[in-house]
Amino acid sequence: MPDWSTSPPEERDYARIRLTRCPVGGSVGGIITSEQLVGCPTHWATHRTTPCSAWIDRSTTPPTVHSCDLCHTGSPVRWHGYVSYLNEISGREFVLEVTALCAKAIEEAQHRHGTLRGLRFSAHRISKRPNARVEIDFAATSIDVRTLPHPVDVQAFMATLWNQSPANELQPVPAARPTEHKKHSPPAVNGSPHVKTLRETLLETRPCPK
Ligand SMILES: [Zn+2]
Repeated sequence: MPDWSTSPPEERDYARIRLTRCPVGGSVGGIITSEQLVGCPTHWATHRTTPCSAWIDRSTTPPTVHSCDLCHTGSPVRWHGYVSYLNEISGREFVLEVTALCAKAIEEAQHRHGTLRGLRFSAHRISKRPNARVEIDFAATSIDVRTLPHPVDVQAFMATLWNQSPANELQPVPAARPTEHKKHSPPAVNGSPHVKTLRETLLETRPCPK
């Protein structure tokens, strides 16, 4: 006998939120709902970003790095940052994953405006190469931030996602065209990007806000 009820079941945690990245040859954008960027060291494994669970014991001199299983296989460690945003066209919420380089531009916008929440952004790759640098522009808005969805708890969302199959990741939706637009150039890159060692990555990483 079916378990009949008069209302649908509660949505799974974060079921309506999707992780996105700036697509090759395309763009993403919307209104940022996070107040600040958060990020952590990651590996690329089984066709997806996976958290690096290495940790540093700072009670020793010099600090001791305790590698994770993926570190031991030689998988490079790369820091990734995350912010949540609302796509005004679809009305859907996303979490944007960015590299450390792109995160610097987001961090600068955060410092300039005091918060990311309510800023409009548009991100695109500078060429059609799959790993081309992502440029991101910001524009202040007059949106009443109280009308925006609550910021996604990015750490909890990513923890949920990293425990699920990659099918939860979806193609991004094109950016809405900003009405006013302040150009912001990310830092210049000379030659190939330096792949940081685990120690460099972890020592640079600030603890995530609680
Ligand atoms: Zn690791």
